[in-house]
Amino acid sequence: MVTSRYDRQLKIEQIGEKGQAKFEKSHVLVIGVGGLGSYVSSELVKAGIGKITLVDFDKVELTNLHRQNLYTEDDVNRYLDKLVAMKQHLQDANSNVTIIVKNQKYSADLITDEYDLVIDCTDNFPVKYQINKDCFDKKMPYIFGTCAGNQGQVMFVNSESSACLECLYPHQDISTLGLSKNIGTNPMIVALSGSLEASMALKFLTSPESVKPGYLMVIDNWNFDFRKIHVKKQSNCPICGGK
Ligand SMILES: [Zn+2]
Repeated sequence: MVTSRYDRQLKIEQIGEKGQAKFEKSHVLVIGVGGLGSYVSSELVKAGIGKITLVDFDKVELTNLHRQNLYTEDDVNRYLDKLVAMKQHLQDANSNVTIIVKNQKYSADLITDEYDLVIDCTDNFPVKYQINKDCFDKKMPYIFGTCAGNQGQVMFVNSESSACLECLYPHQDISTLGLSKNIGTNPMIVALSGSLEASMALKFLTSPESVKPGYLMVIDNWNFDFRKIHVKKQSNCPICGGK
């Protein structure tokens, strides 16, 4: 049911009433509701996605508030689970959306065909590799996202025919990747990267064929450098190579 709250996005030619109807029939799995996941879930919920499932197991902490959208000091003082706080904030933003929460660590059985799309918003590379493998095994399209320091990276992965995360960063290179807890995080790179993941998601849900997989978006919000890099599929990739 289309209502006037979506008036401005209905006027976007590529969305329109058809796109909005697709949003409302969609079910998206967001893994992690820290920095990226806060932005992704709040944007998707405000846009009127039909159903969203959120996975996390952390509590809201004071060090989260500078970059993790929607959480408040009251959430910290009440020592709330992120999912409890986030569900309430999201439902306040749009009561039409069905929000399902799963308070647990990531596990492969979370990836099922009830979802139209999976969005990786974790800050943990072993888990990212596992999501990459599980989505490949189950032919589930997903959006990879990461950010730390002043840099964010986002890529749509649908690796039957294009590069996956292992093609981009083979396992032995993990040690070269910066992590937020070590090198810090510019709050605005979280907003930019999360919004980019949400933008890709809305485009995919409107028109799946129109989002090209295997293109890595790299954003630097200190040098204001934005790049799009075609990542080559590796024939010797242990996940998607030779298949
Ligand atoms: Zn691969």
